[in-house]
Amino acid sequence: MPAIWRVCRASAADICGADMDDDFDTAGSAAGNRRKKAAWLRGIHERHLAQCRAADITDALALAHKAHVEMDAQLQQDSANLPEGKQIRCGRGCSHCCHGPVEIWPQEAALLARFVRDAGLAPDLALLERQSRYSVDTWREQPAADQACVFLGDDGACSVYAARPNTCRKLLVMSDPACCDVRQGRTDQIDRWFSWEAEMMEVAALEVFGMGLLPRLVLQALQQK
Ligand code: SF4
Ligand code: SF4
Repeated sequence: MPAIWRVCRASAADICGADMDDDFDTAGSAAGNRRKKAAWLRGIHERHLAQCRAADITDALALAHKAHVEMDAQLQQDSANLPEGKQIRCGRGCSHCCHGPVEIWPQEAALLARFVRDAGLAPDLALLERQSRYSVDTWREQPAADQACVFLGDDGACSVYAARPNTCRKLLVMSDPACCDVRQGRTDQIDRWFSWEAEMMEVAALEVFGMGLLPRLVLQALQQK
């Protein structure tokens, strides 16, 4: 799977047990560092799970908006500590990453539907229906023209930027944006920047609120009056 897809295939347990290549404690052994980091990540995950379970789900729009605000604040805080000489290279109009499956949760779909209505947008419903037949594993089997997100504008910008899902917010790279273009054959050079707090925030939300691909959930939300 291309490294820049906006999906969360790994469970929190997978992430917590992953062989992290960033040092956690340079003084410890590699195995000891991994154990410490796994415990640290489990703690973050459990905290976000508890927050999601305690959230007021009666107002889907407020829930999603609050989560987006918190995600932006977390990313801003953590990205202030980028490694020396590194910078986030993502920017408006750069959209190679908007051609893959996007996992969201239902409250985010409701917020997107509200944004669409309020902004007077007219997303391609036929495209949403076609895309809804595909999964993460079969996404690339669609015709190339159908693989782009329904909200990707002709100018390469996101037409729902203010309401974009958290999985879009947290996908950031420090590498040359051209590496994200699968046609270039350089995806192995993608240098993702991770905020582990942000990752766990999203893993917890998907676990607690439920997950689905953007086309199907947005189509359902748009069909609800
Ligand atoms: S640099 Fe890559 S991840 Fe960032 S916006 Fe461009 S295509 Fe997306
Ligand atoms: S919602 Fe916006 S940022 Fe996310 S994949 Fe679609 S066009 Fe890209």
